[in-house]
Amino acid sequence: MYSLGNRIAWLQGPGANCAKTNPVAPRPWHLVLLGPPGVGKGTQAEKIVAEFGACHLSTGDVFRHAARNSGGTAPSPAMATALAAMKRGELVSDATVVELVRERADCLSCQYGFLLDGFPRTIDQARALDGILGNVKRKLDAAVNYFAPETLIIERLSGRRVCKQCRAGYHVANKPPRQAGRCDACGGELIQRDDDKPEAIRTRLHAYAATCNPVLEYYRKQGLLREIDASGDPDSVFAQTRAIIQKLV
Ligand SMILES: [Zn+2]
Repeated sequence: MYSLGNRIAWLQGPGANCAKTNPVAPRPWHLVLLGPPGVGKGTQAEKIVAEFGACHLSTGDVFRHAARNSGGTAPSPAMATALAAMKRGELVSDATVVELVRERADCLSCQYGFLLDGFPRTIDQARALDGILGNVKRKLDAAVNYFAPETLIIERLSGRRVCKQCRAGYHVANKPPRQAGRCDACGGELIQRDDDKPEAIRTRLHAYAATCNPVLEYYRKQGLLREIDASGDPDSVFAQTRAIIQKLV
């Protein structure tokens, strides 16, 4: 698994090698993926990695993985700072996230290219990324932004359910349990997390837009922004993604 390999590399700090990705990729791609929670960006990232190679660096995945399991290795300095913040229930600061990416500068310049997912999330992070890439003599090929109507995203995310006992995940439309409201694995009660209630999703989407719109504008001015309507199914969205990446050659 490419992305798991990369997650582990991130946890091991600056010296670790990234996982080898598709060796037949025609060239190293340097892409940033943007888009609100629930737009299906992670699925697109997996498909891009499978077809075009490139290391998938998902800051969200890294945090989730690190919080669960440090893999028995000492976390890198920036990861240690990030984990401490998460343990206190705080957001990981801009500066720490930038530091985490900086620690992977070798990975950003490797022959396989990269796919950044979840970063940059703010205009300061976008500027910092340009600085990091300048130091390793690389530049972005494109910033791909996925968008979908708010109502559709709310519909997707608010269908999530989780088992109260074993935490198994379900979706009322896409992955329904055999018996409504009951976990297939343990029979536990399925609940909707507070985070997945429509009002909470709306708040999250608005917060995302407020910080991300300047990032979109930043890339638009540089001629790097590519926009993709992500309201279709994952395969048709990927057809658009593929067309855009192929045009960058
Ligand atoms: Zn369960």
